[in-house]
Amino acid sequence: MTLIICIFNIPINLFGELRITYPIAAISDIHSNLEAMTTVLEDIKQRGIESIICLGDIIGYGPNPRECLDLVIEKCSWALMGNHDYACLYEPTNFNVGAEAASFWTRSQLEHEKDPKHRARRWKFLADLAIRKNFGNDLMAVHGSPRRPINEYVFAEDATTSPTKMQQIFERVEHICFVGHTHVQGVFTEDPDFYTPAELKNVYEIKSGEKAVINVGSVGQPRDRDPRSGYTIIHQDRVEFVRLEYDIDAVAEKIHAIPELNDFFGQRIKEGR
Ligand code: ZN
Repeated sequence: MTLIICIFNIPINLFGELRITYPIAAISDIHSNLEAMTTVLEDIKQRGIESIICLGDIIGYGPNPRECLDLVIEKCSWALMGNHDYACLYEPTNFNVGAEAASFWTRSQLEHEKDPKHRARRWKFLADLAIRKNFGNDLMAVHGSPRRPINEYVFAEDATTSPTKMQQIFERVEHICFVGHTHVQGVFTEDPDFYTPAELKNVYEIKSGEKAVINVGSVGQPRDRDPRSGYTIIHQDRVEFVRLEYDIDAVAEKIHAIPELNDFFGQRIKEGR
């Protein structure tokens, strides 16, 4: 049971976090894409959803790291550490040349903030990101996988090609574990199997006694050949997958105008890969 206290009528728990109430919007892999982020936040607001959680990779690849960080700080109840957040804070691990250059550029953007208060707030937020979280009714969240929370990918094909990996992952899941990292929405079941949102008609019904690992998708860089921004709504009894169109060309133009960001990052958001 979580003890809730109220300060100035804002409900917070003992960790100083905003209290979470259903439905919960789960966002992940924003990757400094401000246009996608603001589109998703507007949709969440329109639906009257008050609780937002972030599964990591707020920054990296995209042109607006400061703005995206500020929005997560302001709007999310809590956020998790992704491999790109870790890379900016400490060092890139297993990054390709382009991703590494983007990480160093992102770090320079945070370092060159003129206002010392803003600068300190963003670095502290990054340093305080959690590795995993338990929340709601028997739910947990990590960026990558329950086995290696920051860096391990759980790919759709693992359900058919890596049964041992999937078994070891499911051993660490009580009921439902939400992940991001691959930028591909969908549901892994213990069989093991993988279901795309299309196969589920965008809704997964939560059943007691049934385990699932659910990828909430990517706000700023989807990789399932559908370039629309993705996020997920968690209800008490079901999970709903959402996709939204946003101004991709505006983001690609910004990426192309920054020499340190590889042009490929602008191309891939147009193709959703
Ligand atoms: Zn990512």
